[in-house]
Amino acid sequence: MTPVTTAEVCVIGGGPAGSAFATRLARLGHDVVLIERSAFPRPRIGEAMAPSIWTILDLLEVRDEVAAAGFARVEKSILRWAGGADEDVSLPPGRFGLMVDRGRFDALLLDTARKAGVRVLQPARAKAPRVRSGGWVVPVESGEGASLIEARFLVDAAGRYSNIRRTEPLLGPMTVALSGHWRDTPLVPGHNRIEAGQDCWYWGAPRPDGAFCAMIFVDADQCRGRRRPDIEADYRNRLSESRLLQDCLRGALEGGVRLHDATPHQTNACVTETSVKVGEASFSLDPLSSQGVQAAMNSGLQAAVVVHTILTRPEHASAAMAFYRDAQADTVARHRAASARHYAAVASTTSTAFWCERAAKLDVSSASMPMAQLRAFAGKARLSGEVRIADVPIIERDHIMLRKGLHHPALGRPFAYLDGVAVETLLERVASSNSLDELGRELARVTTRERGQRMVSWLVGRRILVSAE
Ligand SMILES: Cc1cc2nc3c(=O)[nH]c(=O)nc-3n(C[C@H](O)[C@H](O)[C@H](O)COP(=O)(O)OP(=O)(O)OC[C@H]3O[C@@H](n4cnc5c(N)ncnc54)[C@H](O)[C@@H]3O)c2cc1C
Repeated sequence: MTPVTTAEVCVIGGGPAGSAFATRLARLGHDVVLIERSAFPRPRIGEAMAPSIWTILDLLEVRDEVAAAGFARVEKSILRWAGGADEDVSLPPGRFGLMVDRGRFDALLLDTARKAGVRVLQPARAKAPRVRSGGWVVPVESGEGASLIEARFLVDAAGRYSNIRRTEPLLGPMTVALSGHWRDTPLVPGHNRIEAGQDCWYWGAPRPDGAFCAMIFVDADQCRGRRRPDIEADYRNRLSESRLLQDCLRGALEGGVRLHDATPHQTNACVTETSVKVGEASFSLDPLSSQGVQAAMNSGLQAAVVVHTILTRPEHASAAMAFYRDAQADTVARHRAASARHYAAVASTTSTAFWCERAAKLDVSSASMPMAQLRAFAGKARLSGEVRIADVPIIERDHIMLRKGLHHPALGRPFAYLDGVAVETLLERVASSNSLDELGRELARVTTRERGQRMVSWLVGRRILVSAE
């Protein structure tokens, strides 16, 4: 007889997304089992964290543990991008990113989940889950043999490639990262190096184990059908052409060149009434942003509130699912646009296929207007005829709720709050103000002067507010 474990929620995958999800959901009072196939610590790609990671770590209440783990701080990057000159980009005092050892970082997050009450099966491998009435059955293989987990809700946090689902659609030209770890290089620790090449881009940073990691992002066609020794020769050749990373070649390459798929992708179906995909099971970003891990954790935190809503307030399940779909689409769209702008900057001077295919045309129509330009528009303002007010799902504390939202064609998605001000308040102030200046002052009473002005500028810039005259 195969042993059966029952749980309310079963999570497959104990990477950053799975751990963040499981921790938050367990803290919301749910019974969670998590299956992780590898024993930790295990190596993983994606070790540079932008400073905004701290916001996510705060939400998960692990700032102190991560700060005490002794990961290297990153306060400066050396950039050689469009224009070809070296640029030192230093963060403001007190702000810093991290270069972590993903083995230890992921283990720390999974321990946090355990402490929150999550039952962790590790190492244990999940096989393809099956639907059954009222939930899911997940076959599991571990050192103790085969077992089954029966759960009401299933969470796929198994990362980009997994035996439990098929490959998902790509969002751009196929890109491969050629990665090598170098010992005994003269490269100075403490900062990242990012450089645009002719038909590739470079990223390098010192690793916590003392080696220097040098990655080169190339079109997948450059690797297709080629033998390993040829790929390694190409990698070395490209490094020799890099101003910022060529000093790697004065050290020794450890363990050969590794290849990683770095093509952004997005799933077609990220949530149903009994399942959700989080982290790279749902989408992957262009590594140019160095924000894959925090985006994965953020999707886990959002999904926990979505699942909590579905399980405890089924009448709001549709709103919760709509919220999650929109939030995922929004994250992907924002990062795609940002990456495409960086590619476009290089494509304007280096018109090789690599840069042109990844570049975007800039859309300046949605930019905010400076206040000086707004003076010309001095009279009373009204909402554009294209504005529609209708409910939107938002996170409010631990649930997804419906709130009055402002919809307009210039917005990727509607908003219920603008800079912390509710749409209802905004509508009242627009109706009662006789000029944009007065509207700015009125909004300043519920927020700050600077924010009030910024909101007016933003609304006019998107033609959500138009002249009433
Ligand atoms: C070349 C490259 C460079 C990158 N650089 C950065 C960077 O500098 N900074 C950054 O923030 N991000 C970076 N990323 C992205 C980052 O690696 C991912 O965003 C992040 O790892 C996603 O976390 P996750 O939890 O969704 O998935 P994963 O980290 O992949 O975790 C998934 C987990 O699921 C487990 N699993 C899979 N299948 C099963 C199964 N059947 N049963 C049980 N367990 C299973 C795996 O063992 C794994 O532990 C990079 C990505 C690439 C490709």
